[in-house]
Amino acid sequence: MKNTLLILSLVIAIVSCGPKQKKQEESVGSETTNIENIKEAFIDDLWKNYPVWASYVGFHDYDDQLPIPDQSRRDAQLEFSKNWLDSLSSIDMDALSENDRIDVLIMQDFLKGIEFDINDYQSFKWNPSSYNLGGGFFQVLNYRKESLDDRLMTIYEKLAHVPAFYEAAKANIDRPTKVHTDLAISQLKGSISVFQNSLNDSLDESGLDAQKIASIKSRRDTAVAAIQSFVDYLEKELVPNFSEENTRSFRIGKELFEQKFYYDIQSAYSAEEIFEIAVAEKTELHDKMYKVSDALWEKYFGEQEKPGKRLDLIRMVIEEVSKTHVHRDSFITAIRQQIPELEAFIKENDLIDLDPEKPLVVRETPKYMQGVAGASISAPGPYDKDAETYYNVTPLDHYTEEEAESYLREYNQYLLQILNIHEAIPGHYTQLVYSNESPSLIKSILGNGAMIEGWAVYTELMMLEAGYGGDQMEMGLMYYKWNLRTVCNTILDYGVHVNNFTEEDAMQLLVKEAFQEEAEAKGKWKRARLSQVQLCSYFTGFHEIRELRDSVMNQRGEDYSLKDFHHEFLSYGSAPVKYIARMMLMDEQENEGITENSSL
Ligand code: ZN
Ligand code: ZN
Repeated sequence: MKNTLLILSLVIAIVSCGPKQKKQEESVGSETTNIENIKEAFIDDLWKNYPVWASYVGFHDYDDQLPIPDQSRRDAQLEFSKNWLDSLSSIDMDALSENDRIDVLIMQDFLKGIEFDINDYQSFKWNPSSYNLGGGFFQVLNYRKESLDDRLMTIYEKLAHVPAFYEAAKANIDRPTKVHTDLAISQLKGSISVFQNSLNDSLDESGLDAQKIASIKSRRDTAVAAIQSFVDYLEKELVPNFSEENTRSFRIGKELFEQKFYYDIQSAYSAEEIFEIAVAEKTELHDKMYKVSDALWEKYFGEQEKPGKRLDLIRMVIEEVSKTHVHRDSFITAIRQQIPELEAFIKENDLIDLDPEKPLVVRETPKYMQGVAGASISAPGPYDKDAETYYNVTPLDHYTEEEAESYLREYNQYLLQILNIHEAIPGHYTQLVYSNESPSLIKSILGNGAMIEGWAVYTELMMLEAGYGGDQMEMGLMYYKWNLRTVCNTILDYGVHVNNFTEEDAMQLLVKEAFQEEAEAKGKWKRARLSQVQLCSYFTGFHEIRELRDSVMNQRGEDYSLKDFHHEFLSYGSAPVKYIARMMLMDEQENEGITENSSL
């Protein structure tokens, strides 16, 4: 599954009418109607072929279906990809609006990515954790617009396919990685208990007759037995006999990493180029951090002698500054108070127009979502436009005194503000509001993660450049530390998969050079072995946006304005930065080479 990120679609008054708006109106004609039909047909066909993904996105017509992951399924996916690539190739790109052109490019990239996944990447062979059905069933069970009884009957249909699903899964597994096998075993065990408990709870609440309930339970038991037999296969047959020959490394290697980076990140750069840029950036950040820490030394340490090593000095100052934090009981209150302050700063400095009709609601993370502490944006999916958007903040109630203290030092007074910029305003939340002003279902469904994360990371820099935090050097230091995390995510990802980083290398990077806590670093090392390429998205998007801004600034000279840049950039929706760059820079250069497709 390519993208389970849900992007909100809000009904919203259009605030700004830049030059983009006009261009779209000019191109209304037969090609425009045609492209709308094509996109609609594509999405219909997409959900037919990917019913489980559809449930995640909030499209529930195919909830009862569960494709069996066997060879004929993969052939059908390749067919889907080939047919759509054929029909998209006949579109007259020059006749399209900029936003439609980008949609076509995004569809083409996605379709080529399917071929890559099946023919080259082949995680269906080596990643047993890709066969976890818990979430898919949960999406159906929680679709509140349908009555509980109807949902349970849908689940009854879906359950019928579970035994065949795990038969195919078992047949697919070929030299799995150890880490993904371990992950699969623990996740599937959890999944089994979800199947039993939440389904039992729902059956208790339902009005179905006893016979129907008995049939559902019996199918559920058969399904659970199928999952259990897959777990047993992994745990009792494969794991005890693991050897060099029948497992493979979690490192995907240079060639696959580059290709996956190309399809998932959709950057104008190669992974290797981004890695090298990140390495250089790390050095630069260390220089800046040393300067600030050195200047702050006296304030926190008085006459005490400075340590000889630069990194030691930085660490000591960070530790002192981190002690300034809110009380555990006022964590949410502090965030709630922050939002209007950020809005006021943005307005005062004329950085971006914020829609006053859409204030962000800060709430306690609902209980069912409270897995890990932290903050997140909860946005309705493209098929649930009217739902509210929330900024979820998990209270620290269940933390011990020690855990709370460590968490609050991490999200200290300064870093908490940077977090709010990233998650809320003008980061993720603002971007989502803008992307809904030019609604494109294609971009909601196939939205580019590097652009989305890159924007949030970019706004941290932009706010500080505009003078946010005043002359507090502590704010600068904490910003650099936060940014360094983004940079090191990229170095770690490429380092682990391409440069054979050991756990020791990873710890050296994250703890010694990025000033992270041991526990955080251990978690990141695990994540880097389980995921591929995703950790590069934050820095890649950030770097490309920063560069695009420089190009636009150079090109426009006196006509450049930061606010216009933001509005224009955001008007394209969640598209890859390289395509937005093409459109924005083309405005001035006018039309060249847009139809030619960049390929690997
Ligand atoms: Zn404290
Ligand atoms: Zn983010």
